[in-house]
Amino acid sequence: MTESNQEKTPLAIHLCAPRGFCAGVDRAIQIVELALEKYGSPVYVRHEIVHNKFVVDGLKAKGAVFVEELEEIPAGHTDRPVIFSAHGVPKSVPEDAQSRKMFYLDATCPLVSKVHKEAEIHFRRDREILLIGHAGHPEVIGTMGQLPDGTVSLIETEDDARAFTPKTDRPLAYITQTTLSVDDTAGIVAVLQDRFPQIVAPHKEDICYATTNRQEAVKHVAPKVDAMIVVGAPNSSNSQRLREVAERAGCRTAVLIQRASDIDWHDFEGITSLGLTAGASAPETLVEEIIAAFATGSTSTSRRCVLPKKRFPSTCRGSCAR
Ligand code: SF4
Repeated sequence: MTESNQEKTPLAIHLCAPRGFCAGVDRAIQIVELALEKYGSPVYVRHEIVHNKFVVDGLKAKGAVFVEELEEIPAGHTDRPVIFSAHGVPKSVPEDAQSRKMFYLDATCPLVSKVHKEAEIHFRRDREILLIGHAGHPEVIGTMGQLPDGTVSLIETEDDARAFTPKTDRPLAYITQTTLSVDDTAGIVAVLQDRFPQIVAPHKEDICYATTNRQEAVKHVAPKVDAMIVVGAPNSSNSQRLREVAERAGCRTAVLIQRASDIDWHDFEGITSLGLTAGASAPETLVEEIIAAFATGSTSTSRRCVLPKKRFPSTCRGSCAR
């Protein structure tokens, strides 16, 4: 094949469907926008309303102010609305807001609230509760915080499930974070059910539909493409899981990026097919931005940088159209 023929090789982009915004994220963003419309700025938001910088920056531009804790809200602004993020919050947070006489709006996704209710029901029925999830994730902090400290045991891996020792002789029950890998969670549940056959499972899967069907779409596309891009933030659990799913499904290059400017063009040299998806907190406009970046031909041989790889400056994003 001649060089000019190589240059004309088209890149096939396979869009995963569904991808991007889920209903819970859409709802949370609308709550902030409606609050801004109704009450004017500033409207305070505790924690990133959803894990996406583009979305957060857009809301900041409209007058939303993001804080990590309620105590960061200035004393003179306690009458301004404060919104809790889609990930949910420990019970102590609305209690704290009430004691400070704050006006709060709760944008917790109803599917996260469902898991909170399950935890409470297990607690009322005197069951010892295990939560399958990732330590430190805001949703996990929120779910564990529905019950008194020390009530819920966190299980992150199959090894944790093997090592778990019940603290009491009460019946066991498990719940899960909503944005986990379906396959990893099935492995952890299998270990628990093998060790504790009577453990009470959720009536209906706690991993939400948006997480499940986005992972299914990636499993379908990943084996057919040379590379997969997941649009999402590094702190977005469901986006991270999509990247892992693509890798395990046999895609040799699977990367998570936030914007087109993050593309490392070396990763995509010579590819003829690309899979593209987005985490539940990434808007479609960012997917379109990635498509536009590839459409400008940045991966074609005619626009490949002539510098040897080792001489690339660390800041090079390969977008100089050299
Ligand atoms: S990913 Fe699932 S749980 Fe999280 S906001 Fe979306 S629908 Fe709700």
